Amino acid sequence: MSLWLSGIGVSRGIGIGRVQRLHGGELEIPEHRLAPDQIEPEVTRFFDAQRSAKEQLRQIRARIPGGTPGEIAAFIDTHLLMLDDRSLTDAVVALIRSAQCNAEAALQKQRDALTAVFEQMEDPYLRSRKDDVQHVSARILRILLKQEKGIVPAPRAEQAEPPVIVADDVTPADIILLSQQEVAAFITEYGGPLSHTAILARSFGIPSIVGLHAARRLLREGELVIVDGDLGHALADPDAQALAFFETKRARQQTDRAALSQLRDRPAISRDGVRIKLLANIEMSQDAPYAADLGAEGVGLYRTEFLYMNRRDLPGEEEQYEAYAQVVAAVKGTITIRTLDLGADKQVDSGSRRAPTANNPALGLRAIRLCLKEPELFRTQLRALLRASVHGAMQIMLPMISSVQEFRQAQQIIAAVTEQLRGEGHRVAGHVPLGAMIEVPAAALAAPLLARHARFLSIGTNDLIQYTLAIDRVDEEVNYLYDPLHPAVLRLIRMTIAAGEHSGVPVAMCGEMAGDPRYTRLLLGLGLNEFSMHPASVLEVKRIIMDSNVTELRRQAQLALAADSVREFQDRMAGFAHS
Ligand code: PEP
Ligand code: MG
Repeated sequence: MSLWLSGIGVSRGIGIGRVQRLHGGELEIPEHRLAPDQIEPEVTRFFDAQRSAKEQLRQIRARIPGGTPGEIAAFIDTHLLMLDDRSLTDAVVALIRSAQCNAEAALQKQRDALTAVFEQMEDPYLRSRKDDVQHVSARILRILLKQEKGIVPAPRAEQAEPPVIVADDVTPADIILLSQQEVAAFITEYGGPLSHTAILARSFGIPSIVGLHAARRLLREGELVIVDGDLGHALADPDAQALAFFETKRARQQTDRAALSQLRDRPAISRDGVRIKLLANIEMSQDAPYAADLGAEGVGLYRTEFLYMNRRDLPGEEEQYEAYAQVVAAVKGTITIRTLDLGADKQVDSGSRRAPTANNPALGLRAIRLCLKEPELFRTQLRALLRASVHGAMQIMLPMISSVQEFRQAQQIIAAVTEQLRGEGHRVAGHVPLGAMIEVPAAALAAPLLARHARFLSIGTNDLIQYTLAIDRVDEEVNYLYDPLHPAVLRLIRMTIAAGEHSGVPVAMCGEMAGDPRYTRLLLGLGLNEFSMHPASVLEVKRIIMDSNVTELRRQAQLALAADSVREFQDRMAGFAHS
């Protein structure tokens, strides 16, 4: 009999296949007391297991195929770093010695203690990082218990259909191994939209549902199941009619994807001849070919924070120079590199003075404010960036600018650093355009003034919406108020674009809104002609642009912005989906 199950759809598409359960699940941890002469050999046994775990992960990392988004290798790197993290290993060794218990029991205790710390965190992203602790501990535990074989199923016989993997949870390493064997879909009992499973499944384009709590109990090994990753539904043992319906839907999606890939090398020109620039947001140089493959013409946002994360020290000039030089050379077209945007939801371990001590960190010492307060931190990054500017077409973007004065101050520092570098005999590109992000309402209101000094502006809607509507973007309690269509937000976007039009300064958008196909027509109507987004969205947005009449959309947007009732405004907004 058919059975409908519901979870959270985290990676789109339809997957159809037979259930294959991942073995793993809860491990039975023995606990026993050691005799005094067994303690040091037990410590050695623990370190041996830790070393084997690292070796396993290194081997998996080496198997990541070329062209895979950089975030995937980064997940494995996070686990490798965690395996070396002394808050995990020192505590386990101390427990073996003080409680005279076996390594498995000591590791389990420390894992539970760290998990409890993560669970208390307010930030949902950090909270979901308790998965890392669990995954890393499970890997060592399996080695200690000699149970590491058979977690990932053996490769299928040829011609067998790809399976639907059902598991309690899947580690990033498992996903990498499984994706090389072709998988129809994933269903996991744990996890949320920010979990590794979700992020990786989206990167690999595998339809997935997480948080389907009783999946392993309700789905039988080998039974046919349909996974709808758009809606988060799974249908077990479907009848012929349901199967035919979803097969048709899957085929339509596949044709659609193939049609989209045809647009890759075509310019994004609207029906009435308006040329739109489509750019990618990337975080690592490995992402550059992936972005170009998906039709991006350059990079509109390269976030540099990753260089500062997951480490205890700050990256020096040489290390940063190498990273920037590599990414600048790898990108075809122009790359816009954003200077350090630390603080608020983006914290690092290095430097305790940057710890979130403020009551309201989103309004505190973050991004450009932090860089101006700590000139050495800023100068080191600027020296590396300016030296890398000779390797391609690069521009520098300042995050969270809230006044012309702040922009000018940064501009002067950059001029001084350029001069100093040249004095030392370094080469710096003749012209490195400097732009401002528009993320604070004050910056949008002052855009005509900023446009006198900045060579370009780029609207960061993620923060602009948070600051305009006074809602913390990572606070689940007020998520429901986060509304890109709020008239105040749209007016600020329009003001910024208008300021650019009047002064001949290009205006881009690099917040999530730019890559959301639901808003493409609206943004065209507001006059936006540079969109920067996750590479995976470029082709879909391009198709909408090629099918739009920008002149007509601009007329409609004007009417919508002039609407004098919320109702009328909403009616006009709804029209954007169909025009
Ligand atoms: C933004 O705020 O829209 C943006 C692109 O910056 P981030 O998401 O990195 O804060
Ligand atoms: Mg931002």
